[in-house]
Amino acid sequence: MYEDLSLYIDGEFIKGGGRPAQDVFDPATGSVIAQLPHATKEDLDRALAAAQKAFESWRLVSALERGNILRKVAQLTRERAEAIARNITADMGKPLKEAIAEVNRCAEHLEWHAEEARRIYGRVVAARVPNVRQMVLKEPVGVCVAFTPWNFPYNQAVRKVAAALGSGCTLVLKGPEDAPSAVIALARLFHEAGLPKGVLNCVWGVPSEVSSHLIASPIVRKVSFTGSVPVGRLIASMAGSGLKRMTLELGGHSPAIVCEDADVDAAARVLSAVKFNNAGQVCVAPNRFYIHEKVYDRFMASFLEHAKKLKVGPGSEATTTMGPLAHSRRVPAMMEMVEDARAKGARIELGGARMGDNGYFFAPTVMTEVPDDASIMLNEPFGPVAPCVRYTDLDEAIRRANALPYGLSSYAFTTTTKNALKLQNGLQAGNVNINHSGQAAPEIPLGGVKDSGIGSEGGQETFDGYLATKLVTQLD
Ligand code: NAD
Repeated sequence: MYEDLSLYIDGEFIKGGGRPAQDVFDPATGSVIAQLPHATKEDLDRALAAAQKAFESWRLVSALERGNILRKVAQLTRERAEAIARNITADMGKPLKEAIAEVNRCAEHLEWHAEEARRIYGRVVAARVPNVRQMVLKEPVGVCVAFTPWNFPYNQAVRKVAAALGSGCTLVLKGPEDAPSAVIALARLFHEAGLPKGVLNCVWGVPSEVSSHLIASPIVRKVSFTGSVPVGRLIASMAGSGLKRMTLELGGHSPAIVCEDADVDAAARVLSAVKFNNAGQVCVAPNRFYIHEKVYDRFMASFLEHAKKLKVGPGSEATTTMGPLAHSRRVPAMMEMVEDARAKGARIELGGARMGDNGYFFAPTVMTEVPDDASIMLNEPFGPVAPCVRYTDLDEAIRRANALPYGLSSYAFTTTTKNALKLQNGLQAGNVNINHSGQAAPEIPLGGVKDSGIGSEGGQETFDGYLATKLVTQLD
């Protein structure tokens, strides 16, 4: 059964009451599967007030106790993984196997944050005068607001909720209206795990209206957002004018460089898997493929072979390896980029069009001879389209890779230490993955440089954005 969609404010699941609602669609069929209630301005204010009141006591709850609640939610997450995942497949479209894997991985994120919260340390600094003690303390910043996207709806919410609550902050979360079931499922698990009321609140609405109302509130001390660069800029300007801390995990346009000395078959296998994972709707997906001219033909043959094997279909079917795009607006977005590249001289080697009339399916697409000024080489496609080009010199490839204002992820394949070192040092990105796909484990940080964001999530950096530094000096 699909999730009972509601708001979650001050420990209560709320809907109806004349609130406006929006349709939720199944991207595999285009049909309406549920109604999502929107928060009124009064609901938003109540959520903020509840988070403010809850902060007074939650900040004093021990890290061990906060961790126990996160651990309990991890256990419930594993127990309910299949039911939560079925609803993610229903409203977001990804293959069920991938949805189950996403949810189960989140149990690890919750457990890791539970443990790491016990390592929020301060320090003692030797004073310059006798009898003075100087202590550096870390304190939760207060009420936070977070905005999470639809591509990994459970994972993106868990990362922010675990970091905020683990550090002792309280939170008002606006999840993705396009794929809302995962966030409400998560709220239910926290409720069941005994989270005090008001510590976590979940709201829905018109994104621009909700975010401007919440961020403008003087109650809010920190803003966290994952999504596109243009929306990130807007959120950052609102947070900046209120002098609020921010963590931004924004889009990227990750380059993949295959060197002359690469294991070409491994490169094609790994890069096709990461490119078409989640139908390309991944912030760290490789989006520009720079292949050395000497291995170009071999790489293209192998890459195309892998792409052709993808089985596109509804996420609920066991044989499906690539689902539909998450919503209708992504189909024309893909089409425009493909047409623009074709008009500028690119060759469509595979796909290049919508599949069928039902749902939002787009064929795995591979293009070659794509000019550097094609829209897809400049703007994040966020879809299953791979533009591939040749290069002759590694320095030139690194320069082209770094030419965009983004810097989230990057990929490179080489068998020599010399090239690996050049790539590690040269690529401007929050993460550089050499000879493999990278991982989304809780113990490693994820964050971008340049326009791709501010701050990191995960790793030992995960609480940094949620903690303030306080110096206490005391004369005995
Ligand atoms: P979009 O920019 O309209 O929305 C992206 C996300 O931001 C959605 O979850 C949406 O609800 C939210 N959002 C939009 N306007 C907002 C506002 N004013 N205040 C608060 N939240 C707001 O784009 P889209 O068509 O949904 O998705 C495509 C683009 O989004 C991609 O190009 C990609 O860059 C980006 N995206 C990035 C990630 C990521 O993990 N970094 C995830 C999803 C989408």
